[in-house]
Amino acid sequence: MVTTVNPSNTVAFPSEKTTAPANKRVARDSQTNLRLQLSNLLQTTLDLDQVLQFFFEQVQTQIPLGSMSFNNEKLTNAITLGKSGRHNCHYNLVTGQDQGTLGELSFSRGTKFKETELQLLELLITCLICPIRNALMYRDALQSAQKDPLTGAGNRLALENTMEREIALAKRYQQPLSILVIDIDNFKKINDNYGHSAGDCVLKDVSRQLSLCCRESDASYHSYRFGGEEFVVLLSNTNNQGALIAAERIRRAIEGMETNYNNERIKVTASVGTSSLLLDDSVTSLFDRADKALYKAKQNGRNQTVTAQELAIDDSELLNF
Ligand code: GH3
Ligand code: MG
Ligand code: MG
Repeated sequence: MVTTVNPSNTVAFPSEKTTAPANKRVARDSQTNLRLQLSNLLQTTLDLDQVLQFFFEQVQTQIPLGSMSFNNEKLTNAITLGKSGRHNCHYNLVTGQDQGTLGELSFSRGTKFKETELQLLELLITCLICPIRNALMYRDALQSAQKDPLTGAGNRLALENTMEREIALAKRYQQPLSILVIDIDNFKKINDNYGHSAGDCVLKDVSRQLSLCCRESDASYHSYRFGGEEFVVLLSNTNNQGALIAAERIRRAIEGMETNYNNERIKVTASVGTSSLLLDDSVTSLFDRADKALYKAKQNGRNQTVTAQELAIDDSELLNF
């Protein structure tokens, strides 16, 4: 028979119990030592996966477990360790009376949990609450450091980190990679004509449009706000032809947009520069080529896409001349 133990159990931050009978003192002392060791270990990291891994390993020295899983509303997927079994127990973790829930912790294994094991498990879980809370706060801080506060898009730091990783992956697996640098045309005039707040609304709308275009695409495309009125889209597994198609789709989508601000309908256009990864490219060289192409698109009259490849052809023609 499959058992599910206490599906709505709540484990809160521990309050020390001092009323154990004298003949249970030895057992209690060893549990206290165990909790102390566990707490010390869990305090050594702020990484959520590592906190859970340490806890899972340590609990298994006392209670055989098949799997452990942690989930909360902010995680895209539950973090699961081990292999699940037929018998489960679930705990809702809370930090205090008014701080809400940290998430749900579940355990499973092939054999039924004994009452004494559940008691020990609950005791050990109390050591996990603060480390999980700290790890979640650390995660939030890391995420917001990489987010643009106005648009919610990834910021320049996030872009640089991702580009570094994507370039390494593309080179290792010999896959194409491209970027688009997108700059709103004559944006200063939007601020001058309608005010800075209206300009902010346009930036939010453009950013939303970019995410929409990225989501609608089959490939893995991600948009970032590089700064001011400049955005970057990173196109994984996409060559220069694919980049040109994506750039034109985005440029047209921006051209077709309308921002409603205080009964005003504001329209903007954008210029786009694209570049595709070369063997010896770094983050800077890949970006700089797209930026040069963008500059050319501005020179050519704005609201258009120029690829770095086109510029290279121009260059070679100049050299031949
Ligand atoms: P171009 O077509 O050559 O790109 O012209 P532009 O006017 O778009 O470029 P320019 O660099 O002259 O002006 C960019 C403007 O963007 C100036 C700056 O005040 C504005 N800007 C930068 N960041 C923000 C922001 O967060 N909000 C608003 N509203 N405006 C911003
Ligand atoms: Mg501009
Ligand atoms: Mg600009």
